[in-house]
Amino acid sequence: LAKGRGRARYEVFDDDLRSRIERRLDTELALRDAVERGEIETWYQPIVDLQHDTVVATEALARWRRPDRGLVFPGDFIAIAEEVGLIKGIGTTVLGQACRAAASLEKGLAVSVNVSPRQFVQDDFGAVVKRALSESGLPPAQLWLELTESAVLEAIDSAARTFQELRAIGVRLAIDDFGTGYSSFTHLRAFTVDLLKIDLTFIRDLERSEHDRAIVEGILRLADSLNLDVVAEGIETTGQRDLLKGMGCRYGQGYLFSKPGPAASPAVYFGD
Ligand code: C2E
Ligand code: MG
Ligand code: MG
Ligand code: MG
Repeated sequence: LAKGRGRARYEVFDDDLRSRIERRLDTELALRDAVERGEIETWYQPIVDLQHDTVVATEALARWRRPDRGLVFPGDFIAIAEEVGLIKGIGTTVLGQACRAAASLEKGLAVSVNVSPRQFVQDDFGAVVKRALSESGLPPAQLWLELTESAVLEAIDSAARTFQELRAIGVRLAIDDFGTGYSSFTHLRAFTVDLLKIDLTFIRDLERSEHDRAIVEGILRLADSLNLDVVAEGIETTGQRDLLKGMGCRYGQGYLFSKPGPAASPAVYFGD
């Protein structure tokens, strides 16, 4: 009996594995033509000034509108795109759409674009960014580029000069998901940035956890002494917002203010 049950479970596992492999291959194939078919869209989520209740920027977030499947979120295609070498085309598409959208707003809003290491290790990354700026007419100071900590590590070796050239023309650099990588302090020493985005895992329990409040206060103090601006990610409650505001955190982003949506400048909630 036990043996029979064991075999049955193996078959379930095999089917599961096979369907996962099939799904993955299917995604890769469909993703290959997604850019040319115009299926990559950019959605936007406002970044607000917590102290003044104003919108200062909007983060560009990739979405894939698969004709047969509907809207696909980055968690289901960005990592695959990186692995199979498709992230450059997707990243350039999002960058172009984001710059054009921000340039059309006439509000002086900045747009913050996520950049994967596979994108910026390419020799022409600086040229790609400058072209997106000149073709859209967006002033460089209204473009922020977000890199994760592990990406910063790669940039130190390969693309540091490109990033510093972009900073010199006014583009601002942000470290995304700050606190989730490793040796953050080494990165901050070796690589000059303008903003830190505190990862949403530190914000989630802010109201309950004295420990998390202490960590966030520490990040804010560090940022202050390095002259960096801070964005707190994933603010969902007025309690979290009020705590961050009280701690002197300058910027915030999260479902409380607005969920990501297709409009570059959506309605934003500031009430309580
Ligand atoms: P991220 O850059 O840290 O973006 C923030 C993510 O948190 C977004 O998920 C956003 O929808 C979500 N978020 C915002 N506010 C809240 C909140 O209050 N609560 C919670 N629980 N979540 C919130 P999304 O759009 O699914 O993107 C996931 C990740 O995919 C991004 O994380 C980024 O790392 C990556 N990504 C998105 N677009 C691009 C892109 O164009 N290029 C690259 N290389 N990566 C991208
Ligand atoms: Mg980001
Ligand atoms: Mg983030
Ligand atoms: Mg994240």
